[in-house]
Amino acid sequence: MAQAPPPVADDRTSIVRLHGEACFYCGAVHTKLFPAGSVQTPVEGGVRVWPVVACAQCKPRSDQ
Ligand SMILES: [Zn+2]
Repeated sequence: MAQAPPPVADDRTSIVRLHGEACFYCGAVHTKLFPAGSVQTPVEGGVRVWPVVACAQCKPRSDQ
């Protein structure tokens, strides 16, 4: 199962989404959140990879 490399997050992406405290896609916090892969953001000298979460509506269906 090949996985695509993490997409690059927009630098305006809310930090709570990168920290996995809110759905990465819609920002929902008052719901059950599931692991949703990772995204990367550019930092000095490279990239930082963040594991992110998604709510039931946004989460990818490929993990069933
Ligand atoms: Zn969501």
